[in-house]
Amino acid sequence: MTLPPRYPLALLPTPLVEAPRLSRALGGPRLFIKRDDLTGFGLGGNKVRGLEFYLAEALAQQADVIVTGAGPQSNHVRATAAAARVAGLDIVAVIHDSRPPQAQGNLLLDELLEVELRFTDSPDRAMIDEWLPHVAAELHAAGRRPYIIPRGGASPLGALGYVEAVGELRDQTATLGLYFDRLVLATGACGTQAGLLAGLRVHDWHTSVLGITVSRPVAECLERIARIAPAAARLAGCEIELFSDEVVVRDGFIGPGYGIPTPEALEAIRLVARTEGIFLDPTYTGKAMAGLIAEIRAGRISKGETVVFLHTGGEPGLFAHPEMTHLPRSGPKS
Ligand SMILES: *Cc1c(COP(=O)(O)O)cnc(C)c1O
Repeated sequence: MTLPPRYPLALLPTPLVEAPRLSRALGGPRLFIKRDDLTGFGLGGNKVRGLEFYLAEALAQQADVIVTGAGPQSNHVRATAAAARVAGLDIVAVIHDSRPPQAQGNLLLDELLEVELRFTDSPDRAMIDEWLPHVAAELHAAGRRPYIIPRGGASPLGALGYVEAVGELRDQTATLGLYFDRLVLATGACGTQAGLLAGLRVHDWHTSVLGITVSRPVAECLERIARIAPAAARLAGCEIELFSDEVVVRDGFIGPGYGIPTPEALEAIRLVARTEGIFLDPTYTGKAMAGLIAEIRAGRISKGETVVFLHTGGEPGLFAHPEMTHLPRSGPKS
């Protein structure tokens, strides 16, 4: 497998740790957590892996400013900004909604990184996709050399981070002599799940992947994954076609909306913190863990299985949601 060049940022491999206390508390399967919250750069998370490919391409094109966008609590924008700074580039981020009176969580980190923030003053997330080329054109007209990274970092190039991560996980499980049945993760803009599915094919390895959507309807996720995964595999020199039963995305854990904490996510965050001393986030991993817990309680994931939960990061988002602790308690006590 030959991949496009990378600009090194991440500290790899990330740890793969067993979570026996969480497993016991759930009366559930043997559980491992792949700690991609610890990718080791700019407060970590899944976006760092893909950024290595984006930054290498931006530098090869002699860009001097990165243009990207997402929500005010975007882990993607924060990690991209840190990467841009390290590579000596400026960073402009288009953010939906309006500027909050006080920067908290990821937005505070964006301020510290001196990101030029452009707020759309609209909750419409898709509007960012329209703004990015306009902002780039404006910068270009001012004599700059912009490089656009799509909203949330989800593209075939960004997904290569998880094509590689599959090889990393395969080597780690081989070292541990571990076989696992299922990989569970939070799915947002779908680049991570697409990269994993492409990676399984590229590395000729098998496991089932369950994405818990935290943002989009399932149909939209399936469409995005079907589009991104083969294109990512092609960048790795592999022609693939995904079977429809390979792409599994479960709905039911978004709650009132993307980025809004739910009682189920809060329960999951509390449980994982109490049992393993590991913090999940309210937007992605808390909701994904709520999904995994529900699958276990419904008996759809049995005690005999071994499951790897991909911790995609996002902890800075915890500090933007102090209201979260006032949510009602949910579900049976464990
Ligand atoms: C972006 C993000 C995800 C989702 O990744 P996608 O590739 O957009 O599906 C999951 N968890 C965290 C913490 C993220 O920041």
